[in-house]
Amino acid sequence: MNNKQKPYRLYLTEDQMPKQYYNLRADMKELPEPMLNPVTKKEVTVEDLLPIFCKELAKQELDNKTRYIDIPSEIREMYRIYRPSPLIRAYNLEKYLDTPAKIYYKFEGNNTSGSHKLNSAIAQVYYAKQEGIKHLTTETGAGQWGTALSEACSYFNIPLSVYMVKSSYEQKPFRKDIMRTFGADVIPSPSNTTEVGRKILKEHPNTTGSLGCAISEAVEKAVTTPNSKYVLGSVLNQVLLHQSIIGLECETAFKILDEYPDIIIGCAGGGSNLGGLIAPFMRDKIKGTHNPRIIAVEPASCPSLTRGKYTYDYCDTGKMTPIAKMYTLGCDFIPSANHAGGLRYHGMSPIISKLYYDGYMEAVSTIQTDVFKAAILFAQKETIFPAPESSHAIKVAIDEALKCKETGEEKTILFGLTGTGYFDMTAYSSYLDNTMSDYIPTDEELEKSFPNII
Ligand SMILES: *Cc1c(COP(=O)(O)O)cnc(C)c1O
Repeated sequence: MNNKQKPYRLYLTEDQMPKQYYNLRADMKELPEPMLNPVTKKEVTVEDLLPIFCKELAKQELDNKTRYIDIPSEIREMYRIYRPSPLIRAYNLEKYLDTPAKIYYKFEGNNTSGSHKLNSAIAQVYYAKQEGIKHLTTETGAGQWGTALSEACSYFNIPLSVYMVKSSYEQKPFRKDIMRTFGADVIPSPSNTTEVGRKILKEHPNTTGSLGCAISEAVEKAVTTPNSKYVLGSVLNQVLLHQSIIGLECETAFKILDEYPDIIIGCAGGGSNLGGLIAPFMRDKIKGTHNPRIIAVEPASCPSLTRGKYTYDYCDTGKMTPIAKMYTLGCDFIPSANHAGGLRYHGMSPIISKLYYDGYMEAVSTIQTDVFKAAILFAQKETIFPAPESSHAIKVAIDEALKCKETGEEKTILFGLTGTGYFDMTAYSSYLDNTMSDYIPTDEELEKSFPNII
């Protein structure tokens, strides 16, 4: 395609949507360290995982060898409702920045849940249904994962209980009502529906809850309800596998454009959208056929890659899951309350952690006022209202495009626009009202929650 023909929005056809997930572990020269059973400290087996995950997902979690895994047609049927997602050229932003760089973004916010999380929610619910699971539980803080899972559960007709941190439940009533619209039972946590919840309520009757507590309640509910499982929306290898659909679609689109990204940028909370976006490009980098720069962007208030430790830690605040080697701030780390966006997770996907440790990618952190400044510029130039999480990637894409302006290099930049920000108006309001502050934890503060598990 010559430049004149190049569209603003490149939509693949339904036929061009990937039919298989891509498992990057199969091409990594060195694998992430194995997950360990937290009690025996031995390498976990599929059997160890069965109390938490359904069988297919437990297999996917530990499968380091199978390069391509078929996407069942039932999953593809639901993907077709909102995929393939567009790859968009930010012509207006480029013009405004007066940069020779080409800026592309993959937009995952085009579904009701408003984020990429639906890609994995659909897969997880489908496999659970296949295995006769009759009920699912999860926790939600900000609400995107709970919303995505509610949509998937409604589609596949599986009842869902969402434990929502009480403070979010009260502050974000619209999130709660979207989940209820899709039929989920949304319970403010702590609640009197579980043993843990009742205990906490007795000790602290006025508590507004925490993610750790919501997870413990969701897990207890799954373990005590017949045929029920607990599901997680990020960090896990299986979630990165499902999210590979983002990167695979980008790869096809860039082939059609006859281009290849020089710089790939993604925001990093637990690492699932980033892991999915970069998967095929990282494969090329590992094989040596291309050498894109790959950059993870995290908030300065929750800096797991840039200031965390590479060590074994729990994947969840409730300490229920196996332990994994990853960059972590410690599973007891609680980011400052004034940090507005998501991306508050204490650890980082073991796959992303290993690739970063081995020097295949870079990581940077940004303060939130800079992120919102970039978000607003992006909204004005590109007409999409971005999620605060996604805006971390926007900020660094703009920085890189401005560097190209200085050097005159015509680089091709790709970033992941993971979602929309309609439910994050409180954060936007505080930025617009000039009441938003930037909080960067001190070394002493980080030291307090660093893990000492192994
Ligand atoms: C959850 C979320 C993220 C961060 O999660 P990852 O697992 O790191 O991808 C980023 N953007 C949006 C819109 C989200 O909802």
